[in-house]
Amino acid sequence: MYQSFIGLEVHIHLLTKTKVFCGCRSAFGDEPNTNICPVCMGYPGVLPSLNAEALRMGCVVAAALNCAIPERTWFERKQYFYPDMPKNYQISQFASPLGRDGYLDIEGRGIQKQVRIKECHLEEDAGKMIHTGAASLLDYNRAGMALLEIVTEPDMETGEEAELFIQQLRRLVRYLGVCDGNMEEGSLRADANVSINRAGRGLGNKVEIKNLNSSRFVRLGLTYEILRQSALLDAGKPVVQETRLWNQNRDQTEQMRVKENAHDYRYFPEPDLPVFAPDPAFLNAVKAGLVELPLPRTGRFERDYGLGAETAEALCDEKALADYFEEAAALAETFGLSRADGAARLANWLLTDMKRALSRAGVSPAGIGSFTLTARRLASLVSLVALERVSMKNGKQAFEEAVRDDRDPESIIKERGWERLTDSDLIGEAVRKVADAEARTVDLVKAARAAGNRKRERSLTAYLVGKVLEATGGRADPKIAGAHLNALLTPPSPQPPQPPAV
Ligand code: ADP
Ligand code: ZN
Ligand code: MG
Repeated sequence: MYQSFIGLEVHIHLLTKTKVFCGCRSAFGDEPNTNICPVCMGYPGVLPSLNAEALRMGCVVAAALNCAIPERTWFERKQYFYPDMPKNYQISQFASPLGRDGYLDIEGRGIQKQVRIKECHLEEDAGKMIHTGAASLLDYNRAGMALLEIVTEPDMETGEEAELFIQQLRRLVRYLGVCDGNMEEGSLRADANVSINRAGRGLGNKVEIKNLNSSRFVRLGLTYEILRQSALLDAGKPVVQETRLWNQNRDQTEQMRVKENAHDYRYFPEPDLPVFAPDPAFLNAVKAGLVELPLPRTGRFERDYGLGAETAEALCDEKALADYFEEAAALAETFGLSRADGAARLANWLLTDMKRALSRAGVSPAGIGSFTLTARRLASLVSLVALERVSMKNGKQAFEEAVRDDRDPESIIKERGWERLTDSDLIGEAVRKVADAEARTVDLVKAARAAGNRKRERSLTAYLVGKVLEATGGRADPKIAGAHLNALLTPPSPQPPQPPAV
């Protein structure tokens, strides 16, 4: 059988306000060729200057990926000609990448693996070519935007593993706030390298698949390629080292070009940028950017809040959601709920009602932090339901109105008179009225009880309690109503015999 080897090269757009070597705005979707200047257009005689924020963000990612940050780092020119790159070289890193020899643990869907990171390096993006059929148009707004390239060792074996790697890397860079992870817009792009060989023989001839703009295509492209290469070896034919494209219309990879080797680029040190030696202040800034990462946070949610693995993972998928949850959980505790009870209830509301409310309002989960229903409002509502001060039904109603009107759910409940009714006399009266109106049902319950038909008795009693709730606008405490009902159905016990008079 064959063994397969997959290594990924992932490019992420760093969320800097300006480009990496000039002051032009770094943004998607602007009018073509409006964010350009002599530096990013490669005019002769111009000088690049390094964006410190890009350097910091790159090092934050490198550190989060457990890479060693070098004592000195610099840039090289990578020479090649292409119309989308007016300088005819790209400023990149070759000999001293920002990070080296790290790893990322990936976990989920039955996969648990440590993928080694070979290196992370900072470079500039090229412009964008738009092919119209008759002509090719060029938009240089993207030329010079800050890119971090993350290169793995060939440690993955299946398309599923590569897909999971991309998804978890995407989650990580979003957590770090350095990339929006939007694969459709190209903020996160992946090239996948894959080879196969007879087991035990090491790496085979690698094929690089480009044009993978979703993690699903990464999986499909690699799965296809592993099968294609296996068929070649089965037939005694060699696998040619080449670059292929994923054709999403035909669900197959297609030859693009036979790949250049690294030395074709004639890397040489960029003479216009000084060597950078990270100082303690810079290293501290990098450290400060390292938030708790998604995988350890998921584990902590399971341990600290007693949540199931799936729930913890769903909450930790988005940092803003996990932050919101923790804020609300802490408040629910101050409102008198046990930590586990509050957490379980909040998770439930967040992953159902809140999710629905967000999508209805067109707010992404990342935007939950500025949603009308704040963590405090949700915590207070969930606590009122948990402490049985409002019924679940009225609680849900209050949730909808609080979202709609940007209001505090507790004041809605007070104003609407939805607070649970616990006055025993009032409930007793409601029970008697229902019993009068439903005299036939009451007789049926008594008959069921006499016949020892517990099931029928219970369902009829539930029906009557429901009627009491209906009569009180859902407010009566069902336990108190049940007790009154029971008293009403129980025949008075016979008088105990009088003790003989002495
Ligand atoms: P290149 O110089 O062609 O860019 P690199 O050595 O930089 O090649 O590796 C690029 C990517 O390809 C890395 O992710 C690496 O893990 C992967 N890779 C290298 N050789 C192989 C191979 N034989 N099979 C599968 N992946 C490979
Ligand atoms: Zn510029
Ligand atoms: Mg390479």
